[in-house]
Amino acid sequence: MDYELAIIGGGPAGYSSAIYAGRSGIKAAVFDKIGGGGLAMVSPNIENYAGFESISGMDLMDKMQKHSKKYANFHFFEEVKNIKKEKNDLFIIETIQKKYLVKAILLCMGSEYRKLEIPGEKELQGKGVSYCATCDGNFFKGKNAAVVGGGNSALIESIFLKQIGCKKVFVIHRRDKLRAEKAYEKTALEKGVEIIYNTHVEKIIGNQQIESLELHDVNTDKKTKFPIDGLFVSIGEIPQNDLAKQLNVTLDDKGYVVVDRQQRTNIKGVYAAGDITGGLRQVITACAEGAIAALTSTEVLGKQYPY
Ligand code: NAP
Repeated sequence: MDYELAIIGGGPAGYSSAIYAGRSGIKAAVFDKIGGGGLAMVSPNIENYAGFESISGMDLMDKMQKHSKKYANFHFFEEVKNIKKEKNDLFIIETIQKKYLVKAILLCMGSEYRKLEIPGEKELQGKGVSYCATCDGNFFKGKNAAVVGGGNSALIESIFLKQIGCKKVFVIHRRDKLRAEKAYEKTALEKGVEIIYNTHVEKIIGNQQIESLELHDVNTDKKTKFPIDGLFVSIGEIPQNDLAKQLNVTLDDKGYVVVDRQQRTNIKGVYAAGDITGGLRQVITACAEGAIAALTSTEVLGKQYPY
């Protein structure tokens, strides 16, 4: 056996589970297709992780990574492609590099950005269309940018874009009410972000670079051309559940992994934590779930659960 616990995904849930696993005497490894950090990595500013009044996602993930590396092996840039359950209750995980035999699996693969799926989106990605203001916002300094969406992420992205010096920043939301917390709405408005309600982005127009958006006002049913230099799509996330499906893990109707209060899935020896389980999808809840999952896995490892 190579590892007792294979933690798949090196975001907050994966990091925290590695700490709890290592400190419980579990031989664990974290696998990540890139260099870890998950989606939290690109959050410009995290203000609700206890103990840090304000910290960038990159800095927080860096701290978590350094901390968790004391307690587990890390296989970065080693994507897990397949997982198979063997007859003897062991699992074979196959990465792009090799196969590993493990006793328990912790699914922490998180989620990926949801796409608008409208004309021009794919063609103009990287040419003015982006999913991450932290990564690409700087290209639009002194220019006009819009963010699509009405959740926390959209509002945070808009505040960040104002902060780095975009001339005008618009939030375009399909309904008449934001989903975001009031605190983010207040800050965005104070910074001069303009919110456009009841409006769908139906087309992204441009050749080598984005030029404008086709907007549809659902109240008046009018379509207008809206000139813009950059568009940030911030309309939520989709769980990365391919490996869960391979294992016949039960998913809910939105594709999130169903777990019990101890982070167990329906498959013995398979646990899940963090954004892949849906719910609040906060860094702090991902960490808590990762800790619980690692300790629950002691039940299939012949180890003592601490309480
Ligand atoms: P979200 O809360 O799911 O919001 C997605 C937004 O996009 C909603 O306003 C939704 O509109 C809109 N939307 C969805 N599909 C759309 C489409 N096809 N066209 C146009 N608009 C569309 O997603 P999120 O803001 O990315 O946040 C994800 C999770 O992370 C949430 O649980 C959030 O609380 C958490 N998060 C927390 C923080 C924080 O607290 N610091 C920061 C970022 C994210 P409707 O409102 O009409 O559904």
